[in-house]
Amino acid sequence: MKFAVIEEKLIPEPFLTVKQTTFPISSLDHFYEQLPFNPQFTPNPALKNYLTGKQLLLDELPFSMEELYTHYENGFLIFRKGIVFEKKSAKCRRCGNTDQRYFASFYCSRCREVCTYCRKCLMMGRVSTCTPLLSWAAEPPLSQMETLSDNECHPASLIWEGTLSPGQETASSRVAEAIGNNQDLLVWAVCGAGKTEVLFAGIERALKENKRLCIATPRTDVVLELTPRLRKVFPGITTASLYGGSEERHTYAPLTISTTHQLLRFYKAFDTIILDEVDAFPYSVDETLQYAVRNARKDSSAMIYLTATPDRKWQRECRTGKRAFVTIPARYHRHPLPVPRFVWCGNWQKLLRKNQLPANVLQWLKERLASDKQALLFVPKIALFEKILLILRSLHPDIETVYAEDPERKEKVQKMRDKKIPLLVTTTILERGVTFPNLDVAVLGAEDHIFTESALVQIAGRVGRSAQYPKGDIIFFHYGRTEAMVRARKQIVSMNREAEEEGLIDVD
Ligand SMILES: [Zn+2]
Ligand SMILES: [Zn+2]
Repeated sequence: MKFAVIEEKLIPEPFLTVKQTTFPISSLDHFYEQLPFNPQFTPNPALKNYLTGKQLLLDELPFSMEELYTHYENGFLIFRKGIVFEKKSAKCRRCGNTDQRYFASFYCSRCREVCTYCRKCLMMGRVSTCTPLLSWAAEPPLSQMETLSDNECHPASLIWEGTLSPGQETASSRVAEAIGNNQDLLVWAVCGAGKTEVLFAGIERALKENKRLCIATPRTDVVLELTPRLRKVFPGITTASLYGGSEERHTYAPLTISTTHQLLRFYKAFDTIILDEVDAFPYSVDETLQYAVRNARKDSSAMIYLTATPDRKWQRECRTGKRAFVTIPARYHRHPLPVPRFVWCGNWQKLLRKNQLPANVLQWLKERLASDKQALLFVPKIALFEKILLILRSLHPDIETVYAEDPERKEKVQKMRDKKIPLLVTTTILERGVTFPNLDVAVLGAEDHIFTESALVQIAGRVGRSAQYPKGDIIFFHYGRTEAMVRARKQIVSMNREAEEEGLIDVD
């Protein structure tokens, strides 16, 4: 598609009535992305639903160009350049990419010119110099609630019988306040604090104010886990669940639960974004995803960050008062977090090459097996699995290993849950999201750089999560302690201290 500009208005090539030179949209300047709003015009409600809060390509819209253009002429639709050039270097407006290595050129049959496109977000359809990004300009669609009067059975009502711990209660009211006032807030909750429940009151408040919310997370697993939980407590509203391959991409919903990746199709959509596990891969390292989240917020909106392990920069900002935050320093069951022990184990890699494990590590593992207590052993590299397994299988035939791309990952985690595996050797993949009730945990080679402060806090956070078994051993076997180890322990100790001071744990 090429355009001409007449009186600062875009005109698509097929709709030109006079002969005029046309250009790819990226080559044009001085045009209105949005024309003055015509209140007499009646927009197509289906298009409105489809496009509100989105940024889509022409190919993604099942509407004729004629219809789309009429909406532009009447001020209801925005045409933005997909690719812009700033000082000759390209920038993709969908994913924010400015790395020139991720742009390529090809001879494009649509504009009959050499077209530059973004490779970074190519899997969501090609954004090139001749493709506009289309968004809805007017007010968002009337949500289900607006058609109803404010009676006691509001469809956005929270249906939940549970109660919050005092720590959760404090965080819950801060979240609701931040959402109400369109502010940013970090919720720093220890592993196992129960952070989802803390969101309920704020979500209910926003929904009742007809605000649109999104819970975003880097991981599909989390989307799949959160969706049924939220549908259950907010049964009166539509909740859209978005991840690669989900069917609900075009559902307009007051509450959306999405991977950060899927937010690339949104534009100024949400009054509140709740971002879970800000520190988790790939969000923490991928600027595209961070751009997607920023781009999906309305100009005036609230942002709630959830994490158990903020990075050092964020911790500093909290300490120096530069970032609004609230902590939940204790678990729901009122027991302190197990504090890691550091145990020197010598040059374990050298021993391993001789098919041996350090005596104290072996001893620790044997004790677990003898007492029938399940354990996780974290190691820095998959390459070590084979040797370690060879040694450990002589102790017990059912010991297993699991890693991120392990084709049997799900089955093995399930077998661990069913207590069919006494000891699971793993990499940092199990640092998050996995809960086994009665567990001891060891790290072998805790000095490895892969074990960052946050990874170690998460690993320690696997222990003692259930109210039935609130205690457990967490041990870092190392060949030289690192700053990350020291900081991780410090973080845990200081959360326990804070919890004690606030009377959130029962000290025994
Ligand atoms: Zn892009
Ligand atoms: Zn083109």
